[in-house]
Amino acid sequence: MLLTRVELHLLQVGRCRHPEWVALRGGRFTAIDFPALVALILHPTAGPILYDTGYADHFTSATTPFPERLYRWLTPVHLPEEERLGTQLKRFGLGLGDVGKVLISHFHGDHVAGLRDLPGAGFLALREDLLACLGRTRWQALRRGCLPALLPPDFPKRLALVDERPVVDLGPAWAPFRAGYDLLGDRSLLGIPLPGHSPAQLGVLLRTTEDRLVLLAADACWSARAWQESRMPSIVARPLFADWHMYRRTLTGLRELAGRQQDLAIIPSHCAETLAAFQRAPE
Ligand SMILES: [Zn+2]
Repeated sequence: MLLTRVELHLLQVGRCRHPEWVALRGGRFTAIDFPALVALILHPTAGPILYDTGYADHFTSATTPFPERLYRWLTPVHLPEEERLGTQLKRFGLGLGDVGKVLISHFHGDHVAGLRDLPGAGFLALREDLLACLGRTRWQALRRGCLPALLPPDFPKRLALVDERPVVDLGPAWAPFRAGYDLLGDRSLLGIPLPGHSPAQLGVLLRTTEDRLVLLAADACWSARAWQESRMPSIVARPLFADWHMYRRTLTGLRELAGRQQDLAIIPSHCAETLAAFQRAPE
């Protein structure tokens, strides 16, 4: 099913802090760090690709006016120099201008804040997520966690829709996720819709050069415990979600899938434990 392997590096590009119980029902009352994950995918022929961008200074400028400022109050952001995307890409001998493509999981600010810093990148996103972000009033967009000011002015010209890519049948072993989109046309990266948190939400299935099978799951679950125990976020987080019941189905689907695909590493975007465990694992 996956024919081309890719090099995968997981980067933490900033973080915010929340009480754990908001993101995980029954969690602690203390505030914990929620890293903003960026996956750097080095494809053998297509070059450097990012899955999301994490935080960038544009988040601060986009959340300076009211009502967008509410977003910053709810999620206080920390972005030290060493966690900036540009600083981290340098470790791989790359500049921001070298990124050829960004796979956008969904349009929440912590996933797309760096798009304006990537002048050479084309963008791939699912149609329903795009519609949830564009053509809304500021309040409507904000209510859904979207900050349209984060998108570059030429965004529509640089965007391709995932929905128009060839569909690959995943077969019963991947139920309840039956089909994926062949994002690059070479079966290296399969886009898997993980709806509920946002209307469609793009997950990405890939196999690394070290033969690790990985599902980048964005916010389909906010932690490993969430999918392992099918634990929903607190009800106070519900207004941020596009479809709460669909989210529950996706979350239980991930647990079901993990039972069948024992080698699959499910990588949520905001789970410090998963990030640390993945980076510790032998290559
Ligand atoms: Zn989100």
